[in-house]
Amino acid sequence: MSNTCSDGGAFTCAGNGPILPLSYQRNDVLHYFIPFVERLSSCFPYISIDPGSWNRKYDKVRGVTERVEGAEKGVLFMGKYEAFAQMIRGSCNLVVFTGAGMSTESGLPDFRSDQGIWKGADPSQLASVEAMERGEEEFFEFYRTRIRALLGVSPNEGHMILVDWEKKRILKGIITQNVDGLHQRAGSKRVAELHGNLREVSCRKCRSIFPNTLFLEGEKCPHCGGNLRPSVVLFGEMLPMRALQEAQDMADECDLFVVLGSSLQVSPANWFPREARSRGAGLVIVNIMETPLDAMADLLFHEPIGQVLKGVDEYLN
Ligand SMILES: [Zn+2]
Repeated sequence: MSNTCSDGGAFTCAGNGPILPLSYQRNDVLHYFIPFVERLSSCFPYISIDPGSWNRKYDKVRGVTERVEGAEKGVLFMGKYEAFAQMIRGSCNLVVFTGAGMSTESGLPDFRSDQGIWKGADPSQLASVEAMERGEEEFFEFYRTRIRALLGVSPNEGHMILVDWEKKRILKGIITQNVDGLHQRAGSKRVAELHGNLREVSCRKCRSIFPNTLFLEGEKCPHCGGNLRPSVVLFGEMLPMRALQEAQDMADECDLFVVLGSSLQVSPANWFPREARSRGAGLVIVNIMETPLDAMADLLFHEPIGQVLKGVDEYLN
């Protein structure tokens, strides 16, 4: 099994190789361990290791640079998926934070990658309050295209695993930057949509809410004749207070915060993992690309989300 460790931050591995030592027997070794390993040890109180090999390999707590060749006498190792599963088992309050990467596996384009939906256009111009107020056709066409694109996609395996975890009370809730509503379509119940959603449109005059079909048909508000707009947060607008508060509550209460498919480049969205981590919650990041918070993570996966969740779910079952 491949287990090439990177020299940055947490345990970054190419595969699901055996890299994580499990526990320890000498108190003076304890302080070398990242909190993650301490959390794991509570699951395995009776496993001991050879402190000599610990000291040699893990004295750089957050910078494991040495390739671990295999289990040595008295040292137990586990794969990353299994380690992730153990963190989840040891957690009483798991919260998941999802970004565009969660939906790309359903076939929806990412926003910020080179192939993303913004390619060739300046998002801060195209999806802005100003563009809407000027009544620019590009603005309306952009959102009609996005709403139509949703008709052709379905929740993916990753979405379904999160639904299952919520049903089994493993997962407390989801904070999402996505506006596609795929979590709800999959069946997730507690979802804080930080950037609004494309399911609904609202009247700019009387604020009534309607299904997005009226917007697609170019209709006005049936109540007052006002113009309809997508219920998403545009550039230049505040995030919705209710969703923000709900997200804040989840982040405040969690003991394990898992990022799925967000590049964590947008504020205030990236405050949540930072805050949760600084309170001592575990942090796991799953994202194809590197993120600015990678070095904070207890576990890091630069792998497809569906693959990771499926791998972890097998250990949970
Ligand atoms: Zn109206």
